[in-house]
Amino acid sequence: MASEQRDQALVGLVLVSHSFEVAAGTAELARAMAPAVRIVPAGGMEDPESGLGTDATRIGRALEEAWSSAGVLVLIDLGSALLAAEMARDMLDPELKAHVLISPGPLVEGAVAAAVAAQVGEPLEGVDAAARGGLEAKSGQLGQEPLRKPAPVVESAAGDWEEATLALDIPMGLHARPAARLIQLFSTFDAEVEVLNATTGRGPVGARSLNGLASLQVRFGQQVIVRARGRQARALIVAFRELAKARFGEPAPGSEAQRQPPEPAASPPLEGLPAGSLRGVPASPGVAVGDVVRLSQPPLLVPDTSPGSVQAELAILDLALGETRADLGALRDSISLRAGEYEAGIIDAQILFLQDPDLVDRAKEGISTQGLSAAAAWSEASARARRSWDQIEDEHLRLRALDLDGVTSRVLAHLLGSPPGRPGGRGILIADELTPTDTAGLDPDTVLGIATVAGGPTSHSVILARSLGIPAVVGLGAEVNSLPDGMLVLLDGDRGLLVPNPSAELLDLAMREVGAIRAAQSRAASAAQEPARTVDGVAVEVAANIGSIADARLAVGHGADGVGLLRTEFLFQDAPEMPDASAQEAVYREIAEVLTGRPLTIRTLDAGSDKPLRYLARPPEANPALGVRGIRLGLVRRDLLRGQLRAIAAVAQSHPIRVMFPMIATRAEVEQVTRLLEEVRSASSARMEVGIMVEVPAAALAAQVLAPLVDFFSIGTNDLSQYTMAADRGNPEVASLADPLHPAVLRLIGQTVAAASGKWVGVCGELAGEASATALLIGLGVRELSMAPLRVPTVKAAVRQTNAAKARELADRAVRLAGADEVRLLLRGAALSPS
Ligand code: PEP
Ligand code: MG
Repeated sequence: MASEQRDQALVGLVLVSHSFEVAAGTAELARAMAPAVRIVPAGGMEDPESGLGTDATRIGRALEEAWSSAGVLVLIDLGSALLAAEMARDMLDPELKAHVLISPGPLVEGAVAAAVAAQVGEPLEGVDAAARGGLEAKSGQLGQEPLRKPAPVVESAAGDWEEATLALDIPMGLHARPAARLIQLFSTFDAEVEVLNATTGRGPVGARSLNGLASLQVRFGQQVIVRARGRQARALIVAFRELAKARFGEPAPGSEAQRQPPEPAASPPLEGLPAGSLRGVPASPGVAVGDVVRLSQPPLLVPDTSPGSVQAELAILDLALGETRADLGALRDSISLRAGEYEAGIIDAQILFLQDPDLVDRAKEGISTQGLSAAAAWSEASARARRSWDQIEDEHLRLRALDLDGVTSRVLAHLLGSPPGRPGGRGILIADELTPTDTAGLDPDTVLGIATVAGGPTSHSVILARSLGIPAVVGLGAEVNSLPDGMLVLLDGDRGLLVPNPSAELLDLAMREVGAIRAAQSRAASAAQEPARTVDGVAVEVAANIGSIADARLAVGHGADGVGLLRTEFLFQDAPEMPDASAQEAVYREIAEVLTGRPLTIRTLDAGSDKPLRYLARPPEANPALGVRGIRLGLVRRDLLRGQLRAIAAVAQSHPIRVMFPMIATRAEVEQVTRLLEEVRSASSARMEVGIMVEVPAAALAAQVLAPLVDFFSIGTNDLSQYTMAADRGNPEVASLADPLHPAVLRLIGQTVAAASGKWVGVCGELAGEASATALLIGLGVRELSMAPLRVPTVKAAVRQTNAAKARELADRAVRLAGADEVRLLLRGAALSPS
């Protein structure tokens, strides 16, 4: 979903050529530079197949496929290509036509330049400008005058600056995540922007560079000035104020997501500890014992070989950037699954470095003006960016330099063809410092603990270590580097200690502590396979949310009682068209087989809004979240819904299947989908439970009239919060408002249960995976919780510690509170008192 969200507003490209192969090859080349952009070739004639020529029907279909709310740029080759492209554009609805631009830019160079511009979120006009300038690099190489003067970046409608000054209300200062949100916000406006630190006088810096923003070193309470001019300057300033008011999407102080480093436990006296014990900063709690291991990456040395042509080196750099983007995208998805969305946001911020002009433009300049190789130019640009981070005085911000290192070294490793570093075995990993991307890739079964020479307890790397459950001590000093590989060490993440060659007694003590922790974990893990009941005997089904066959295996491994949400759109998001019923059946069957008798809840396609699918492209909507999404789209495209239901019903003949419909708002919708299901079911005689997602407040409020038509309700708190609070969950400026712990949302959950007339109610939004909310949800009457697979054992343990009667009292109090922060306080207090 995340990558779909990122794709949503990018300009699409259609490449028209007389030759099928030229269009397809150019598209392939451009996609290598910009994997997130929809690039659709429209080459040759439809009839005769593979004939040379251009074809308006084929171009029309390509326009639909490349459709984006940001518009589509068409690049053409010779003669009649323009006529055919114009015909295809004229066949579109007038409203859609306005979003299609035919560019005079050259086909191949223009497509590559346009794709790169689209990838960084340039608007349609900007992407066209990039395409038109596609020949400049070549003419520069040939020593000719530029074909045209470069256009000013932004034309200012009124030359006046709009300005906002405000004090930064983030305790950690303007660190990477809020800075990334700022850059994302600014990139959506047509305006030139500058940012200054008014308190220290640093700046101004351009607002598209993380490095630039970091160099301002804006700390908590300091005054930031944002100045904008151009067509949308005023709107940008308003949006900036709103984002600042929402603390740049950072969790409110004290909220669950704002995880603080652990309080150091009372340290034992150092006397008693063997000589050579090292004391550092406690970073991630827990005790670990193991052999010293290190990352195996060879040094990344740029070879002294002569570079290829400028064009070739630029292409090599773009390829490495694309490969790194793909790596980080995969890491992001893995962290989202293993740790959660908050932590995945850390990787999002790293991905922004890949489009930072301070790095990318400088490296490209190095290639084209100094004749450097891609690796040498990248390495120089990275070192220069690193130097400016090193000058930052703020300690928290300086820690973010590691984020930069993690990304720049990954790109360099791709440029040099060097594999990423891996721990040299199972044990305690010792390193100078770990970058967040290093840590995100660690496996807690192999890396038992982390000990670093430098680093601070608030670095992104440490936040990730904590969320992955790996004990860590940072800031141990250079001495730790003298410990040889293979030496047995004891690491205490609560006290910040590393003890080389621990004595038998200490080892015994530590092992008992490790044993106790492991016992609790393994109790949770082994009991994870058992059903979970509260202390007073209420059964709660703890299930998993999945989007692939691999997730299903993970779910079973972590003891999920079943699958409470199969997001079917994820299975097919990269397919060129919707897979037919038999292809879907095969996938559903394989998942059901992995689940070996556990229930599988299949949600019908939930496309639209934040989950666009290219084969279900729709005309742009002013408010896609309030538009044709979820079941509304299913009822427009009944052919697809029927096919999906047929596949589901076929699997239901031999497996326990629940079918669930997304985004239901009315009884009429439920009647229509159940009728469709009946048609399909009567042909197959399949039995299955039928449920709906409660994501729209209307469904919660009218649960009483919906209940007779269904077997269960599953509450999607992600959407229910966004619709209740009227706050787009994908918009960082307001996403923190869409808080599922807001009493208004909790009341809707309670109301759904009360009106469900005995039908069971589950929750499958992110809230279900928060162990701190388990008692509250049980108290509200929820009896099924579905979450990221790795959360299952912990939530099952939380269920077992809950007293359902007391939980009801807790829920009664929570719904009467004023806001989400108060609910969090209540939950923290409840966690401290025995159940
Ligand atoms: C939800 O809205 O809570 C939900 C689980 O659905 P999704 O996140 O896929 O929209
Ligand atoms: Mg939803």
